[in-house]
Amino acid sequence: MKVAVIGAGIVGMTSALRIMEEAAHARRQIDLTVISEKFCPDNTSYGAGGIWKPPSQEHMTAAELRWLKWSFDYLTSMLKTDYAHELGIFLQPGYYVFMEHVPDPAWKDIVVGFRHLTAWELNNLFPGYKHGWFYTAFICQPRDFLPWAHTKLAEKGVGFVRRRVGSLEELAPHYDVIVNCTGLEARSLVQDKAVVPVRGQVMRVKAPWIRYFVGTSGPHPTIKGDPYIYANLHDVVIGGIKQEGDYRVTNDPRDTKTIWEGVLALHPQLKGAEVVEEWTGLRPMRKGGIRLERETLVDSKSGRSFELNYGHGANGVTWSHGCAREVAEIVKVIMTEKVTKSRL
Ligand SMILES: Cc1cc2nc3c(=O)[nH]c(=O)nc-3n(C[C@H](O)[C@H](O)[C@H](O)COP(=O)(O)OP(=O)(O)OC[C@H]3O[C@@H](n4cnc5c(N)ncnc54)[C@H](O)[C@@H]3O)c2cc1C
Repeated sequence: MKVAVIGAGIVGMTSALRIMEEAAHARRQIDLTVISEKFCPDNTSYGAGGIWKPPSQEHMTAAELRWLKWSFDYLTSMLKTDYAHELGIFLQPGYYVFMEHVPDPAWKDIVVGFRHLTAWELNNLFPGYKHGWFYTAFICQPRDFLPWAHTKLAEKGVGFVRRRVGSLEELAPHYDVIVNCTGLEARSLVQDKAVVPVRGQVMRVKAPWIRYFVGTSGPHPTIKGDPYIYANLHDVVIGGIKQEGDYRVTNDPRDTKTIWEGVLALHPQLKGAEVVEEWTGLRPMRKGGIRLERETLVDSKSGRSFELNYGHGANGVTWSHGCAREVAEIVKVIMTEKVTKSRL
């Protein structure tokens, strides 16, 4: 069976990995090609802080919770390898603080040791904030994971083509299944106007004394914006910029100032930390949530299937491994249908 995955970001590469793993389990041959206009380090996934942090909502669909659980399970299984650190995968405990009491998130039983902050923690570590969560989750650094995934896929015989795909119909005659992992570009490729950019800017600083994550939700009386701090292996990612509808991919000095001021007000111990990188990316936010489903190409005489896996917004690294498993499950069903059809 011939499969094309469009997009070499974290969503496309994890989908490709999982499809190849499932095919190997089922002892089926899959001829898979990843087609992408850009590869790491030139896509959004490359710059992400890599924290495993879903949206803070109380309610989620059963499918969303399943994807999150699968994602956490995948990262847990990677922890048991002797090379997880080379992929930038490691556990990280940390805090998420709020200006008001908020309901517990739907995923509180997926992460490790979820609890509310004590009065001591709020008063001494996060003065002014009224409520908070502490738990342990993962970091998966895309800048390490993506090159590893590329090598791994190439070893499995997966082909890579660098080019822009103009339409799904253009690929339909050549593939049995097309998996659309184009992130923000799904807006033009499949005309999904619910996908919008949410511009983010981050800085990377040298601060090896920071070993945890901190996320915030304001408005705080003296801390501007919603600063965050994620410890990566070689540096610490700091940010807090969210600008919906803004397509600029250049760093803005005003945002640099906002990040620094916010983070230093939150965590003065970062003062003097050397800045080693600044980066801007566009989160592929989809109003209505991630689009992950199977469809049939209307224009295709052959009734080719395609799968959609895009719109992961501010949490694509978090969702990716679980959504990839769902994609692979759908491909497995299509494989079985194909075998049954060929026997008829
Ligand atoms: C500042 C910032 C910090 C973030 N931090 C985190 C974090 O800590 N944790 C987290 O979970 N998430 C985080 N995110 C979100 C995360 O980065 C995204 O959700 C994720 O990268 C989306 O992955 P993707 O593969 O869908 O998109 P992308 O990485 O954009 O990949 C899409 C790929 O598709 C290709 N493509 C698109 N259209 C076409 C076409 N027509 N033809 C061929 N190829 C095409 C592109 O070239 C690209 O390679 C952050 C985002 C930003 C901006």
